[in-house]
Amino acid sequence: MFSFVQTFASTGPPPGTAPRLRVTAIWRIWTLIGSTIAGIGVAVAVIAWQLPETMRAGTIDSAYYAALEAAEQLRVTRAYYTDAVLAKVRDHKDFTLTHEHKSSAAGLPIPASFVKDVSEALRQRNIGIDLVSPYPWPQRGTAALDAFESDAWEALKHDKSMIFRRQETHDGERWLRIGLADVLTRQTCVDCHNNHPQSVKRDWKLGDVRGIMQVRKNIEQPLQEAESRAKSIIGSLASAWLFTAAALLLAGFGMHRRTREKEKTQQRIEHLAFHDPVTGLGNWALLSERLQSFFSRPGLSQKCAVVCLDVAGFKEINEMLGHAAGDQILQCVGGRLEGLFKRPATVVRTNADEFVLLLPDEDDAGRIDALMGEIVSTLAEPIQTSAGPIAVKIVCGIAMAPRDGNSEDNLLKNADLALQNAKAEKKTWLHFEAAMNAERHRQLQLKNDLKKALERDEFAVHFQPVYDLATNRITAAEALLRWRHPQLGYVSPAIFIPIAETLRIIDEIGMWALAKACEEAMHWPARIDLAINLSPVQFRSPTLVQSIASVLSKSGFPAKRLELEVTETALIHDEKIASEILQDLRASGIRVALDDFGTGFASLSYLHAFPFDNLKIDRRFTGDVARSQSRGAAIFGSAVALAHTLSMETTAEGIETPEQLERVCSAGCKRGQGFLLSKPLPAEEMAKLLAAEASVGACTPATEQAA
Ligand code: C2E
Ligand code: CA
Ligand code: CA
Repeated sequence: MFSFVQTFASTGPPPGTAPRLRVTAIWRIWTLIGSTIAGIGVAVAVIAWQLPETMRAGTIDSAYYAALEAAEQLRVTRAYYTDAVLAKVRDHKDFTLTHEHKSSAAGLPIPASFVKDVSEALRQRNIGIDLVSPYPWPQRGTAALDAFESDAWEALKHDKSMIFRRQETHDGERWLRIGLADVLTRQTCVDCHNNHPQSVKRDWKLGDVRGIMQVRKNIEQPLQEAESRAKSIIGSLASAWLFTAAALLLAGFGMHRRTREKEKTQQRIEHLAFHDPVTGLGNWALLSERLQSFFSRPGLSQKCAVVCLDVAGFKEINEMLGHAAGDQILQCVGGRLEGLFKRPATVVRTNADEFVLLLPDEDDAGRIDALMGEIVSTLAEPIQTSAGPIAVKIVCGIAMAPRDGNSEDNLLKNADLALQNAKAEKKTWLHFEAAMNAERHRQLQLKNDLKKALERDEFAVHFQPVYDLATNRITAAEALLRWRHPQLGYVSPAIFIPIAETLRIIDEIGMWALAKACEEAMHWPARIDLAINLSPVQFRSPTLVQSIASVLSKSGFPAKRLELEVTETALIHDEKIASEILQDLRASGIRVALDDFGTGFASLSYLHAFPFDNLKIDRRFTGDVARSQSRGAAIFGSAVALAHTLSMETTAEGIETPEQLERVCSAGCKRGQGFLLSKPLPAEEMAKLLAAEASVGACTPATEQAA
């Protein structure tokens, strides 16, 4: 049964949104990783580009400051020498100030020679300090200035505070040269320059730039060291970058995989939320979503048809042939329906054997009837299952929008109502009609009233006599339940028993009927047996055997006079349990009859498997038995012969005409029941009939007696 109380809120995003989500998440991961790798790469490249130059500059700067320091120290030392030594000995006759002091015993170096000598000592320590000047005196002779010296002289002449510097390469090695103005800062020096006979210039003044103090420093080795340090730092940075990039890529692939897996799981969950796992078709949620979006289409005509489709007797097929065969049937039905209907039509499986077709923009009853014909003929082809080929029948209910409803709930409810009516009327399909709603309300009312019927004492048991056809005497009576509805009058058990079964109140009602029937039957002659029907649902109760025993013991009705009538449906649920129950019942002396024989599925196999005492041949065959050359007559005769071979009693149900009675007798059937012999009677009338029969002592059927 379709449930319309359920709301159709989707359990997740509609199908089809997951891939977009995946692209976004994975795109984010790779953008982050890509930009991180690129960012670090750019930083490493900038460092690799700048670092050697920076380190070279640093090295050169250190060399520059070292050179400057050396020059300053030499200037300070020379000043000290000039002030502390030369000033004292200048006028002393024992000493001579000369640049040739090395060859003279009393010669002391003039300041320029002092500088030259100290420079020579320093050259051992990789630093060269010279005093150079365009003036040949005191010791330069004709030596010319080189390019650096000339440029330095030109610059320092005008700005004696500046430091002239330049880098040069000689013999493949790099050198740093700096030049400082060598200024006359002592009057002694000025006088000496102006008065010395070899001096070519005699107008020197304090503060004049006499020459250049030049420092040369070989910077090849420190530069090479700085360059190799830069290279190794760049190498380390590049390795760190490569390592980081590899780690990030690895992490990225891991996250990518996990995200994919998570999203696949998400997709699977979404798929499951909208699809039926057995058939792969859509489910309720999908149908609901399609209907909702259909009804919310703005400005479009909301024409559509909804077909609720049931596989008839699926529950029994499933129980009898097993769930594997049941699933194969559902898959095949789903596949065939899907083959017939392409988008925009929707085919979904909503419940066990229930399918729904949604046909948008369709409201033509004629076209739908033609479609239904196509569906029926497509599904008529037997379905191959693991239990062999199975032919299935379908039942359908159709509702169309806007005529039969203009909301999803209404439309589905009405299509289902049409389906229930088609089932009840044994039609293959029915279109919804407004009158069906009234019937539905009646059903609902019946349900509610039935729940209270027992406590309101609205049930009664009637008895239909069963005749021994050889003696024409009543041999038993079948208890048949009656419900006196306060407004509707007698309601047929064919209507209320199935409702009681679905309400699960059949056990209680069934036991009440048994107790009531036993109570009445206690007043009957001892040779009259009591037959009572057991519902297949009662048959599933684990306490059935004890409950029956308890009713029998309370009423005092002997078990050997009781016959329980069961149908095949009671047996197919679980053959093993059914067999055990039947054995237990028979062990306690109760007899068991197979009711409605010939209307089920596998009657012959049940006859073989279960120990029945009586075979009640359905009234369909009894009806056929009188028709000349009918197959029903042949089946009837064979059933009787088979039952006798298996040592069973035979009872013909539904004998309505003398002709049928005669044929039933001549087929060898032992017992008979039917309106011709007697209708079901209230308990008092049954008791009267039995009393009358006892007094007449004859084998006259009730109808004849009445006549
Ligand atoms: P059933 O067990 O096959 O019972 C026989 C049905 O056939 C009865 O219908 C009876 O009135 C009807 N009948 C008897 N002779 C003739 C005839 O000559 N012609 C026609 N056309 N019908 C005849 P009823 O009483 O309406 O019961 C219908 C079904 O309801 C029963 O079929 C049985 O399956 C079920 N039922 C009745 N009482 C009980 C009960 O106490 N418990 C259970 N579980 N089911 C019951
Ligand atoms: Ca019966
Ligand atoms: Ca029957």
